[in-house]
Amino acid sequence: MEKNKYDYIIVGSGLYGAIFAHEARKRGKKVKIIEKRANVGGNVYTEKVEGIIVHKYGAHIFHTNNKRVWRYITKFAEFNRFTNSPVANYKGELYSLPFNMYTFNKMWGVITPEEAKNKIASQRKEVIGEPQNLEEQAISLVGRDIYEKLIKGYTEKQWGRECRELPKFIIKRLPVRYTFDNNYFNALYQGIPVGGYTKLIENILGDVEVELNTDYLENKKKFNEMADKVIYTGPVDAYFEYELGCLEYRSVRFENELLDIPNFQGNAAVNYTDKETPWTRIIEHKWFEFGKDENGNDLPKTIISREYSSEWKPGDEPYYPVNDENNSALYNKYREKAKLEKKVIFGGRLGEYKYYDMDGVIAAALDMCERELGCNI
Ligand code: FAD
Ligand code: UDP
Repeated sequence: MEKNKYDYIIVGSGLYGAIFAHEARKRGKKVKIIEKRANVGGNVYTEKVEGIIVHKYGAHIFHTNNKRVWRYITKFAEFNRFTNSPVANYKGELYSLPFNMYTFNKMWGVITPEEAKNKIASQRKEVIGEPQNLEEQAISLVGRDIYEKLIKGYTEKQWGRECRELPKFIIKRLPVRYTFDNNYFNALYQGIPVGGYTKLIENILGDVEVELNTDYLENKKKFNEMADKVIYTGPVDAYFEYELGCLEYRSVRFENELLDIPNFQGNAAVNYTDKETPWTRIIEHKWFEFGKDENGNDLPKTIISREYSSEWKPGDEPYYPVNDENNSALYNKYREKAKLEKKVIFGGRLGEYKYYDMDGVIAAALDMCERELGCNI
């Protein structure tokens, strides 16, 4: 084996790794991606089944307010006009999300924004002072009724922890609007890449060399010797062999079903917000493309995925970092160690143990490319 054959070995072919590979290759660097899975794309990977583009590792809806990110990513794919407007199912009662006038009308029969504001104001009085945790934050945003029916059960299933033990920033992601607007995201740009995310990633990668089904950590020394530098987008604690302890992650199990009917739930996402239903939500994938195939024909069948949230254990896919106090403190210790690894740059959702959306990961990757490659993108 030739030593330092590559300028960069990139661990992981998700958005972060793929973008770095693209930009480095464009500047004449020799790069190679090592990917543990059998496919490229990381968590945004999609595959076509019965003409339906299936989001294999969870539904991904691209949304951003960042013009630089939008300009960058649309060089590699056209995006459709999908707008996320999930429905909440609480024991058979259906509510609009995010919290808006349709939700308030269904919950309380209020008609005007003023009535809705008054209702919430009267319910938020129980929270005295600055909210200290997710429960208090939620009640102070939307009142106790909505908290009990639409937040508590869903959140406790998703995170496996009591709302009182969770950080309040998690719920601040959700908009609260006194208008009839079901658009889940407050984003200037939103959509799904036409043809799926795998095609997007393949366009980013171009002819970059990729070695699939290969775990970098099983041969770390060998790979490090092959390159001047390593870009690592796997879990930061795994890199250090968990020597300071395990960071906690949430994992998700997907139960997919192909149904011989054209329409199961009439929407891409339905959240089950009660505590008793074991799944958090059901995704019906065809609605990300409005139920049509690439030629504009109606798809006769449908594929649904029930999502079950669970605590991560070795062997599972780590999906969501749990950014509570203990984990954040442990991560900070790993970050100090990571800084001392001069040859390795840690990035992405797992490498930085950060609850990044796709646009955040793209922005972080572009910043890193600029620093590392000395360019402007
Ligand atoms: P990843 O996509 O996780 O890629 C890391 C890659 O590294 C993986 O392919 C992995 O196999 C590989 N790897 C890890 N360790 C090793 C190793 N030792 N050797 C070799 N390869 C390794 N964002 C949005 O903007 N909108 C959404 O709707 C949205 N929905 C989401 C739903 C779910 C269920 C999840 C989990 C995330 C969602 N996200 C969403 C976030 C989005 O997935 C991430 O921001 C983005 O995919 C992170 O990209 P990444 O490159 O950092 O990591
Ligand atoms: N959430 C909720 N009820 C819902 C949807 C979301 O209580 O029907 C809460 C939940 O705590 C979740 C947070 O809002 O973790 C953020 O939701 P988002 O959809 O942004 O979560 P994601 O799956 O994208 O991380």
